[in-house]
Amino acid sequence: MLMELRENYQKGARVLIRTYGCQMNKYDSELLMGILVDNGYRLVDCERDADVILVNTCSVREHAEKRALGRLRQFVGMKSNKPGLIVGVYGCMAQRYGDEMLKEVPGIDIVAGPDSFPRILEAVRNAESSAQICTTLGDFDGEGWRPYRKTNSLSGWCAITRGCNNYCSYCIVPYVRGHERSRPLDDIIREVESAVQQGVREITLLGQNVNSYFDGEHDFADLLKAANDIEGLWRIRFATSHPKDFSDKLISAMRELPKVCEHVHLPVQAGSNRILKLMNRGYSREDYLELVDKIKDNVNGVALTTDLLTGFPTENEEDFEQTLDLMKSVKYSGAFTFKYSPRPGTKAAEMENDVPEKTKISRLEQMIKVQQESAAEFSRNLVGTTQEVMFEENSPKNPRNMRGRARNGKIVEVTGEGIKKGDVWTVKINDAQTWVLFGEKIDKLIDNRQ
Ligand code: SF4
Repeated sequence: MLMELRENYQKGARVLIRTYGCQMNKYDSELLMGILVDNGYRLVDCERDADVILVNTCSVREHAEKRALGRLRQFVGMKSNKPGLIVGVYGCMAQRYGDEMLKEVPGIDIVAGPDSFPRILEAVRNAESSAQICTTLGDFDGEGWRPYRKTNSLSGWCAITRGCNNYCSYCIVPYVRGHERSRPLDDIIREVESAVQQGVREITLLGQNVNSYFDGEHDFADLLKAANDIEGLWRIRFATSHPKDFSDKLISAMRELPKVCEHVHLPVQAGSNRILKLMNRGYSREDYLELVDKIKDNVNGVALTTDLLTGFPTENEEDFEQTLDLMKSVKYSGAFTFKYSPRPGTKAAEMENDVPEKTKISRLEQMIKVQQESAAEFSRNLVGTTQEVMFEENSPKNPRNMRGRARNGKIVEVTGEGIKKGDVWTVKINDAQTWVLFGEKIDKLIDNRQ
């Protein structure tokens, strides 16, 4: 098989990467694709065409793990018809299971933790009949700077931190991604500059908790300021924010830096102080609402989105009502809503999972209903306003129309005549559905050819 691999490598072996989970996983997969392409591999979209299949996994929810396991079993099963096929798993689930992955899915060749992706090239090259086990978290400081590789895209990502120190009681991330490490500001800025040189116009700065970014000298507001100075970059977004670390300095930076978009993803998880404490979130309902008021008062037209969890151990009707009440008071423009399932190894998994499944489902449905009403209201309130829109693609339903995003993150659609991908226009909003706004273009602010 080694001979076959070597031959494949000489021809440029074909690699398929499947990614599950968050933006950080997608970003890591893009980095890995860049490393493999730079070393002679070719990327393919279909498993039938692949000599190497790598699956980037997520452990945040049980469902995501089950899906990834199912796919891995399917890929390993293809080996009987395709001798020499290499199947690898990396990311959080690989870190969590380690050698156990080989028992869960016998036949896997590579197991690598989330910070081990720079070493996957070596693992692929060395894969023979036995698996290469690589489960160390690695040293993120060693990542350094590497040029941005995604091409033909207006929007890009850049990781500014890795890991997390917060240990929310339901969350597996600190156990699989390790403690928080911030990349040096200069490395981040060089990476974003290289993205801009390749046509990226909007960058999303990524971290489990971007607000606690600190490279020993600069905090997150300093980083935003440095990114705002990059010529050719038009928009800056960031995710995810932790309410306990959202500083006044950051609010001022959002207000003052023209490239920073007016959208904050601010996970609240629950509206009851008792549940927030059990979740170890580090803020109260009152702290959160005060922060929301401060952001709304200072950042004109800001859209707030959130994550919500229902069915956490001991959550009663009163706790849940407080969550609904908080949602109605904040009026989020969007939310990711989930029902709790225990993640083995976390503190919450030691508590009794005592909310019946039926109750969790019913509460989740109520949360979704409240959320849809508030998203629809947010959109309706934008009718009659003028929004700055960066156009990204033709509308999937009506290809003559162009679609883009307003600075607040809402999708906006207009008649496409005279608009190119990447152009930025002011648009008057005439109509609104819950998730899409419709309008007419007014002035072109930026021509993407310039
Ligand atoms: S802040 Fe909490 S929920 Fe987010 S990654 Fe860290 S531990 Fe998990």
